Amino acid sequence: EVRVRFAPSPTGALHIGGVRTALYNYLFARKSNGTMLLRIEDTDQSRFVPGAEAYILESLKWVGIEIDEGPLTGGPHAPYRQSERKDIYAQYAQQLIDEGKAYYAFDTSEELDAMREKLKAAKVANQQYNAVTRNTMQNSLTLPEAEVKARLANGDPYVVRLMVPRKEDIRFHDLIRGWVVVHSSVLDDKILLKSDGMPTYHLANIVDDHLMKITHVIRGEEWLPSAPLHVLMYRYFGWEDTMPQFAHLPLLLKPDGNGKLSKRDADKAGFPIFPLNWTDPVSGELSQGFREKGYLPETMINFLALLGWSPGTEKEIFSMEELIQEFSIERISKAGAKFDIDKANWFNQHYIKSKSAEELAVYLEKDLEKAGLKASSENTIRICEVLRERVSFPQELWEQGRFFFEAPTAYDQQVVEKKWNPDVAAVLHDLSKRISQLEDSVTATTAHDTIENFFVAKELKMGKYMQPLRLSITGQGGGPDLMAIIEILGAKETAKRIDSAIV
Ligand code: GLU
Repeated sequence: EVRVRFAPSPTGALHIGGVRTALYNYLFARKSNGTMLLRIEDTDQSRFVPGAEAYILESLKWVGIEIDEGPLTGGPHAPYRQSERKDIYAQYAQQLIDEGKAYYAFDTSEELDAMREKLKAAKVANQQYNAVTRNTMQNSLTLPEAEVKARLANGDPYVVRLMVPRKEDIRFHDLIRGWVVVHSSVLDDKILLKSDGMPTYHLANIVDDHLMKITHVIRGEEWLPSAPLHVLMYRYFGWEDTMPQFAHLPLLLKPDGNGKLSKRDADKAGFPIFPLNWTDPVSGELSQGFREKGYLPETMINFLALLGWSPGTEKEIFSMEELIQEFSIERISKAGAKFDIDKANWFNQHYIKSKSAEELAVYLEKDLEKAGLKASSENTIRICEVLRERVSFPQELWEQGRFFFEAPTAYDQQVVEKKWNPDVAAVLHDLSKRISQLEDSVTATTAHDTIENFFVAKELKMGKYMQPLRLSITGQGGGPDLMAIIEILGAKETAKRIDSAIV
């Protein structure tokens, strides 16, 4: 049975790349009739940010990723929050110490700094605590056993480090990258247990993936350098037979493809990088989220799915169900995926258009309420019907449809200059009289016929007056079908607007 996990650290808002990781795990789980876990990796207390876990949960819920086992849902391997599993990890660290695969290190931070300085001075390229340098440090491998015991008994601070072999190729098969081989000399003796007794990411992650019976680890490329260490730990623990398969997802690149996408790029280009709004609890700074910017969950799913995965066909529009059907790890690319916000906008337009006017009216009604306005739902639905082809974001219904609720107070100056003059105004004034004689609940067809007949009777060219007419009714030079607008406004309101326009 396939079991996958999304294992975020609650250190702030969830980066959109994290949502993609969660999505790929979810698609793979559903496709394989497997189980999707959420595990909160909160052992680094210095980086813990209040509210981040709730934010993660809400983000996943918003895009439609369902969790089968997790901190809220529970499950057979609870608890799913690492801070609540502290006691478990120490015992595994102890096992490695007892077997000579990990060791106590008593180095103070001054000693560590001094070591780094020494290595730098000797022009050693990377100043690691590893199989070579460990022998010069204050650890249980260099201290007499009695002293180690005495220090422990004395309560001296220590960390537990993994004993990485000195000269060995560590190899594993990545489902996306193929065989990965790393020489152990480039790995340092990573800390497994910190001086406060808390496990590091590496220890907690491996122990939990094992205990929670994870079969596939699907995560971002930034974790690829840690993978050899993890593979080594599976071997040390004797868990090789049940070691999960790894799949490291390609990076999300800046829109121009030059390097990793960062929050700064997003801020500069004016698009969000987080799923939801996020207020930094320290600085109070607000970052915009995709949800608040008006992106639909359908857009996010479709857009993120194609950032690194491709169906192998020209098809671009995928619902969650279709993605589940077609998803496969084999079709995930190694190459980084350019984050093209225009593509997201295109998807949003598509999904907005595929909504019914009734569904769209819900958004419009919310904005009306914010503006302190009310309208019958019959009216908002009709307005959405008229506007739906023209909008890419829900808030544009209000932005573009505002004139339905408020008579214009300003008029597009360019149109005024080009098309408006006293003659035009006089003709429109006559026309308004004609329109005011109509039933208030005029239809678009009647409005059209009436207006056309008016111009025919006066032997005037209708084309010359249509844009000024629109201007007088909406304040703008362009927009949806004018007759449909008149039908929604009614004859009385239309006539009134024409009359009070500009002059
Ligand atoms: N806690 C890690 C993170 O924040 C999880 C990495 C992994 O999936 O192993 O991304």
